Amino acid sequence: MNLNEIKERVIKAIDDNRDVILAAGKAMYDNPEFGYKEFEGTKIVSNYFKNELGLEVEEGIAYTGCRARSNKDIEGPKVAILGELDAISCSDHTDSNELGAVHACGHHIQIAGMLGAATGLIKSGILAELGGKVDFMATPAEEFVELGYRTKLREEGKIKYFGGKQEMIYNGSFDDVDMAVMFHALDLGDKKVLTGPVSNGFIGKTVKFIGKEAHAGSAPHEGINALNAAMLGINNVHAQRETFKDSDRVRFHPIITKGGDIVNSVPADVRMEAYVRARTIEGMIDANKKVNRGLTAGAYAVGAEIEITELPGYLPILKHDSMEDV
Ligand SMILES: [Zn+2]
Repeated sequence: MNLNEIKERVIKAIDDNRDVILAAGKAMYDNPEFGYKEFEGTKIVSNYFKNELGLEVEEGIAYTGCRARSNKDIEGPKVAILGELDAISCSDHTDSNELGAVHACGHHIQIAGMLGAATGLIKSGILAELGGKVDFMATPAEEFVELGYRTKLREEGKIKYFGGKQEMIYNGSFDDVDMAVMFHALDLGDKKVLTGPVSNGFIGKTVKFIGKEAHAGSAPHEGINALNAAMLGINNVHAQRETFKDSDRVRFHPIITKGGDIVNSVPADVRMEAYVRARTIEGMIDANKKVNRGLTAGAYAVGAEIEITELPGYLPILKHDSMEDV
């Protein structure tokens, strides 16, 4: 068989199985789950591998997630085809569930695409024509969110890294893989497909501002206001923005996950989650120093304490222009 015949057979197998592939994508869409909580999604993919494709499945590849292998006994390089399981938080979305989870980032499409590729390769019967192995993976926790929950998982020894693919690199899931491919849905206008695009890397951060409680009405002079420390800290970072290079595309976007305990008390325990993003590693490191300095100065101004915990995020994504020509 030549390459075009192989492609035609694969595409035909995908078209012939269109309904089950789309149904799997729809099932994912109807069961949105945040990262490292994709138990239902893992089951949907795992059942598809077993029931539709007759594959053996390895579950819990990085706490959640699953993997199936094909052409195990064929000598040659191994390609892994990946699809991401996790949803994002967007309570405004009409399809979001009670937790605000929804597949607004289109990861259900990735899962359907990965299963479609598996279906095309297996049901067309062309695997025997290939000179290598293909693994299919449903990968957890692409979105780097719910840092508190993941910190707990890490403390419990269930994960070491907050990103699913980082965890998989750490636990050796990619050790026997020569090339990994995946795609992400994107609004490209007239264009059907592109490689890349480039994107920022980031450092994740949880921050605790520690003040001193006192009655907010009768004795605020005896307290130390950790919420003021956090607000000053954020504004200190804003004052750094002109020092960030345009080409580094630095982003600092904190949220306050706890602003105090009761309104009658001077807030003494204020928590923040933040990312420091940039297009280059140097830009990330430079901006991160300034962010830490700004936040710390906010605490210093009111006499509060600060604890900053840094979490390895993702490196910047670069693209190879000639790949796009191919
Ligand atoms: Zn996404």
